[in-house]
Parts: sequence; C-alpha cells; structure tokens
Amino acid sequence: MSTKVTKEEALNYHRIPTPGKVAIATTTRLETQKDLSLAYSPGVAFPCEEIAKDPALAFEYTSKRNLVAVISNGTAVLGLGNIGALASKPVMEGKAVLFKKFAAVDSFDIEVDETDINKFCDIVKAISPTFGGINLEDIKAPECFEIERRLVEELEIPVMHDDQHGTAIITSAALLNAVEMMDKKIEDLKVVVVGAGAAAIACSIMYKELGIKNLIMCDSKGVVHSGRTDLNKYKLNFVTGSCTTMEEAFTDADMVLGLSKPGTFTVEHIKLMSEEPIVFALANPTPELFPEEVKAVRPKAIVGTGRSDYANQVNNVLGFPYIFRGALDVQARTINMHMKKAAAQAIANLAKQPISDELRASFGELNYGREYIIPIPFDKRLMVEVSAAVANGAVESGVARVKEFDLEKYREKLAS
Ligand code: NAP
Ligand code: MG
Repeated sequence: MSTKVTKEEALNYHRIPTPGKVAIATTTRLETQKDLSLAYSPGVAFPCEEIAKDPALAFEYTSKRNLVAVISNGTAVLGLGNIGALASKPVMEGKAVLFKKFAAVDSFDIEVDETDINKFCDIVKAISPTFGGINLEDIKAPECFEIERRLVEELEIPVMHDDQHGTAIITSAALLNAVEMMDKKIEDLKVVVVGAGAAAIACSIMYKELGIKNLIMCDSKGVVHSGRTDLNKYKLNFVTGSCTTMEEAFTDADMVLGLSKPGTFTVEHIKLMSEEPIVFALANPTPELFPEEVKAVRPKAIVGTGRSDYANQVNNVLGFPYIFRGALDVQARTINMHMKKAAAQAIANLAKQPISDELRASFGELNYGREYIIPIPFDKRLMVEVSAAVANGAVESGVARVKEFDLEKYREKLAS
C-alpha cells in the first residue's frame, strides 16, 4: 500500500471539507428551555459550587477527566525547526486527531507564542485547571528539559513531552525485542547514540533504566567525552571516558540509535559494528542511513526507522494516545518511569502475539521476527495492552487518584 502523499493532496486534506482537522462535539442534550437551564444558568451554578468546595469533583462534573492539552511554542516542529506557534497548529491539530481516533481522548491544541522558559511555564500552569493531562510537543532542546521538569514538579496532572518520552518508550520496546532476538544480555550491549537532543537524551535515560551500561553519545561535534568543555548539563550526564572518536565508538558496538539527521553515520561506521547489530536510524523523514544500505554490509542487522514504508517503524502513535488514556483513567498525578517501562514492555509483548485477521487482510502477514519487532499503529489491541499497563503502573507506583482499581475489569472496559 502506497503511503506517499503529494503537497496538493495534503493541502486539500487540511482545507476540505472544513479548514483544519478538529471541531468540538457536545455530549449532553440541549433541546428544551429546561435543558438550557440545566446546561447553563441557573443549573450550571450547582456543579460550580461543588467544585469550589472540592476540586476533585472537577473530574466528575466536567470534561477534565478525558481532556488533554497538546501544547507547543513551535520552536522545534517536525524537522522544520523553529517555525513559530501559529505554523505549528496543523501538527498539534493532527495530534488531537490521533488522540481521539486511537484512544478516544479529547484534546485541545494550544499554540503559545512564547519562548521564554519562565513565561511559557507560567502560561501552561495558568491554563492547567482545564485539563486532565498535558502533552508538550515540538519544543526545542535544551529548553524542553527545563520546561518539562518544572511543569512535572509544579502540576498535579500528568505532563509529558512526547518527543522525549514517547520516543523513549517506543524505542525501548523495540530494543527489548531486538535484544531477545540477538541472544545477548541488555547489560552487555555496547550502544552508540547519535544525537544529544530532546529524543536522544530521553532515550538514553530510559536505556540506562533498562540496564544498558555501556552507552556512548555523540552530538554535532562528535563523541560526548570527558575532555569536552562545551557540554550542557544534560549531555554531561552521558560523558564517556572510553573514547573520543566516532570510529572508536562504533567499533564492536551492538547497537546504534540515530536521533539526529541524515548522513551523521555511514556504512563505514556500520562495518565497524558487531555482525548482527541493531540499527535504529530514526531521523525523519530521511533516516541517518537507509535500511538497504545497512543490510548491504550487515545482512543480519535488525533495522528500524521512523518511516511507514519500511519494516519496524518507530512511531510515537504506538504510545502517547494510550499512555494518556491509562493515566487519565486512574487520574494519575504524573507519568513516572515505572509507568513508562510498563508501556514499553506492553508494546514489546504485543509484537509477539499473532496479529488479527483484520490486520492481516490490510497489511499482510506479520510474524514476530527481525522484520517485525514492534506492532503497527493500526493494531487495535494497543488500546487495551498499553493503556492497562500504564494505568496499572500508576496504581502500583502510588500516583493514581482513583481508590478502587480492578485491572481485569478495566481491560474489559477498554476492549468494549
Ligand atoms: P534535536 O533536539 O534538535 O536534536 C538533534 C540532535 O542531533 C542534536 O543533539 C544535534 O547535536 C545532533 N546532531 C546534529 N548533527 C549531528 C552530527 N553530524 N552528528 C551527531 N549528532 C548530530 O531533535 P530531536 O527532537 O531530538 O529529533 C532528532 C531527530 O530524530 C529528528 O530527525 C526527528 O525527526 C527524529 N525523531 C524521530 C522519532 C521517531 O521516529 N519516532 C521520534 C523523535 C525524533 P547538537 O546537540 O550538537 O546540536
Ligand atoms: Mg513531535
């Protein structure tokens, strides 16, 4: 199935039948004078008073419990760079569509024309009462780290920068399965991370949590090593003392994770790696190196990209809709590492289950193996598996507000 689109098709998609991709739908009846009195004044005053007395009741009387804000300042939009808040709106609307279609999560896209960290955080905090969760999106590094840290600390609802943690969760799922196929232990892998931005830093933090010990990071100036004096505090957490050149980094490496741009490593680097390496070349839309180039020198490599026209697409849509679904359903206060690991494990496990006839009819045979290490976005079982894992992870780690949680009942509800 061709997934290529032309500019004209894409522009028409956004213009027709109405400009943009989202609209508001109402959930209550509004037919009579009585309905009007219930929906608005005077009836609406009663839930207002209840919430004023007990803020937790906002989850009962308003849309807060199922509403996520998709917030960007437009400073790192797709691979387009700093195109500003307004121009980022199609992406944020798109995210709202994915939230709704994949996981029935409602969201508002909010484009904030503010690049100052303090002011941006103040704005997000000020509008946070409306929402049950906040998905930060396409905010440039390193500012994104401080913005997220502050908002996570200061807000009592889940805040997640998807470019960081969504990517970390999906690549972790892919890594867990790839390692299994290689017949190696995760602790013994030598991993090179090419890129030291939003996605690469978050992935590296999570990889360490999964047990990776030998991780060498590279940025635009080369290896992030202990002799450098130009490193920000996020890169400083990953300095290596073991090498200073990319060639040394790649020698006998078992895995490379590319989160940079096209051409930052080449087949010459791949030739230095172990015989059956994991190569995730995730720069979008053009990967660091194409799968056929990798396979030409390492036929047994397990290769992933960000693209839908190759096997093993690392696509964040496998994660964020269900991560927020699970977090919202237990009214989680945050999204912690325990929940993120549970999501990654659930995604990894799902790839091992035979696919449905419906999927097979549309996408052909997909059998767990080197060419199929993670599920595809249209696998409907993601809703149950990932949301349930995240909700359960929130309950286990003590960050859920709901008092009663029955995992089996919740899974049934998700499946219905
Ligand atoms: P980012 O914050 O701008 O980071 C880009 C990083 O690439 C920077 O650390 C930069 O180094 C580094 N870099 C640039 N040239 C390099 C070179 N020659 N060698 C080594 N590193 C180099 O961007 P991001 O949000 O992390 O995203 C990075 C890429 O990954 C983008 O192409 C994005 O589309 C892709 N991505 C894909 C997925 C997915 O497939 N699911 C998810 C997230 C991101 P400096 O720090 O020195 O500037
Ligand atoms: Mg993004």
